[in-house]
Amino acid sequence: MPRPIQATIHTAALRHNFERLRSAAPGARLWAIVKANAYGHGIERAFEGMRGADGFALLDLNEAQRVRDLGWRGPILLLEGVFEPRDLELCSRLQLWHVVHNDDQIDWLAMHKTHSPQSVFLKLNSGMNRLGFTPERYRAAYARLGALPQVDEISLMTHFSDADGDNGIADQWARFQRATEGLPGERSVCNSAATLRYGSQSEIRGDWVRPGIAAYGSSPDFPQHDAAHWGLLPTMTLSSKLIAINHLEAGETIGYGSIFTADTPMRVGVVACGYADGYPRHAITGAPVLVDGVRTRTLGRVSMDMLVVDLAPVPQARCGSEVTLWGQGPKRALLPIDEVAQAAGTVGYELMCALALRVPTVVL
Ligand SMILES: *Cc1c(COP(=O)(O)O)cnc(C)c1O
Repeated sequence: MPRPIQATIHTAALRHNFERLRSAAPGARLWAIVKANAYGHGIERAFEGMRGADGFALLDLNEAQRVRDLGWRGPILLLEGVFEPRDLELCSRLQLWHVVHNDDQIDWLAMHKTHSPQSVFLKLNSGMNRLGFTPERYRAAYARLGALPQVDEISLMTHFSDADGDNGIADQWARFQRATEGLPGERSVCNSAATLRYGSQSEIRGDWVRPGIAAYGSSPDFPQHDAAHWGLLPTMTLSSKLIAINHLEAGETIGYGSIFTADTPMRVGVVACGYADGYPRHAITGAPVLVDGVRTRTLGRVSMDMLVVDLAPVPQARCGSEVTLWGQGPKRALLPIDEVAQAAGTVGYELMCALALRVPTVVL
């Protein structure tokens, strides 16, 4: 028998989340964000659940090739644009749209030989200070692009740094409006948090929304709102089984570093899942976990291949009992990835993206 760990990708949950996002931003077209191998889900595995999107947005040319290989003929957008001039040849061949965020990319376009002009998304740096033209230089970049025979449509975009927090989007949105006022072209500004929080406002949702994490069932503004609040379902489950049961006396310890000490006799279970599977090592005693669908907690340190759980709430648990590390458990129990991430001092994004290659994955 193979080691019992498994990841499951839930096609129905992906579809459900897209419906939710469509109703949060009615009328806007929706990019399926599949960078980082579809947030760790696997582009090929997530594709069936995401093919209802209006386009696929990603970073790597090889990811774009994989989406085309799946038979997708619609829009594909390179979110960081091209990295060197010859990438434009592949853009022409695969009909990719690409973000333009600096002058080099415009120079490369100007030198590119093509018979089919390309669609570009011109990025404004509205305050995040990663990619994009500053508001002062945005119109000049627009004019340069507009004069190139290599360029077809120019869409206008920016990215919010605080759509999930208390600062919100007001300042950046105002800068975007000022910088783009009167310029023709479609607009795209909303990530997950902005789509859910502000997508009901037609100006803000614009023509295209770009919700990544929410499509995968994680709440972009956890813990202020959880996934249930936003009506999102987990699209990735990490599950395993108990492979040993131990009885501890008071005073005995668990795992490396002996950081957990039993203060009464305890029954504990050993789970075939560790940090080499992508479970976060920073989750020490107290991270939530389900055993047979019943919520309990981890104990001590996570090791490479194993972790230990408290069986007090699950006296019926045996070797072979099902353990849900995150996602959808038995008996309709859910364990939001955001809660596990919080116990490890990180975000759901990082856990999804870190799912290890060695974990066998099935698509439901
Ligand atoms: C990753 C990314 C998104 C999606 O962000 P989420 O927080 O996952 O919704 C949207 N836009 C751009 C430019 C991105 O790089």
